[in-house]
Amino acid sequence: MKAMILNQIAALAEDPNPLVLVNLPTPQPGQGQILIRVSTCAVCHTELDEIEGRTPPPRLPVVPGHQVVGRVEALGSGAGRFHPGDRVGVGWIFSSCGDCDACRNGNENLCPEFQATGRDANGGYAEYMVIGEQFAAPIPEVFSDLEAAPLLCAGAVGYRALRLANLQDGQHLGLTGFGGSNHLVLQLARYLYPRSRIFVFARSQAEQEFALSLGAAWAGDPTQRAPRRLNAIIDTTPAWQPVLEALRSLAPGGRLVINAIRKEEVDKNSLLNLDYAAHLWMEKEIKSVANVTRRDIADFLALAAQVPIRPEVQVYPLEQANQALRELKDRKIRGAKVLRFTL
Ligand SMILES: [Zn+2]
Ligand SMILES: [Zn+2]
Repeated sequence: MKAMILNQIAALAEDPNPLVLVNLPTPQPGQGQILIRVSTCAVCHTELDEIEGRTPPPRLPVVPGHQVVGRVEALGSGAGRFHPGDRVGVGWIFSSCGDCDACRNGNENLCPEFQATGRDANGGYAEYMVIGEQFAAPIPEVFSDLEAAPLLCAGAVGYRALRLANLQDGQHLGLTGFGGSNHLVLQLARYLYPRSRIFVFARSQAEQEFALSLGAAWAGDPTQRAPRRLNAIIDTTPAWQPVLEALRSLAPGGRLVINAIRKEEVDKNSLLNLDYAAHLWMEKEIKSVANVTRRDIADFLALAAQVPIRPEVQVYPLEQANQALRELKDRKIRGAKVLRFTL
């Protein structure tokens, strides 16, 4: 099978083509696993964190990709949840132990043995992948394969971030960064909190206009002040300055949710400007989002089908995965980037 693999950790600025096209043996589904013939796989900012070593894969080479849509091709022994031909999706959660306190309490995303798709196990930048059948999700019919892919991480983790934001209908929500995830969160938030107004902070005018077209009440540059204080803000940027700006914009008792697996080091010094009174006092909170549970994915897909959420996608062939990653790094973003397979 064709696959794009990562052989070594590299900064994209030094190696603009970190993934290599190779031919690999098609994997065989093990006990309780399914073999998926991949149709689409969305590109996530976390892939940059893997490639550049901020959350490095424990073993190389690895096939990245954790927003995978495809059809069940074969069943391993003992697998029977799906039938061959069923359409399934795979997100960031590849497996968890199922046995620890976190797993037992519905927090499998915090399991110490959490395994991530495309980092700890081969993912969807390939024509086929295998996964335990309990960790795959059925995809609602209303979505095409292209639309469904970004829902599996950008959408599902965005949904987790929105839940953690603890918003009440009528309270005001801020979104910092307007890429693959927040353009879905905006659509979901408008549905769940129809009386809330949504304020978007994005660097480019194109992103700001995109946000307004999706129903944002206001859009501006991250250095601009929103016209009012916000009860919750979700930050999806890889930088630190937006964290300070967001804290300043929070209303008393407000909460900042950082939806990023890693932050980059470039502007970390801006944290030296942290001012307790302006940024933290008045019971402001900061919370991060870690990984995702199967339930987040299932609940989000069901909600997304109700809304229905319409992901904006840009399509690339598998062979152009490096280009998609470079454009993501350069923040040439409108919606989500999706690899499509032609078999
Ligand atoms: Zn992701
Ligand atoms: Zn566990």
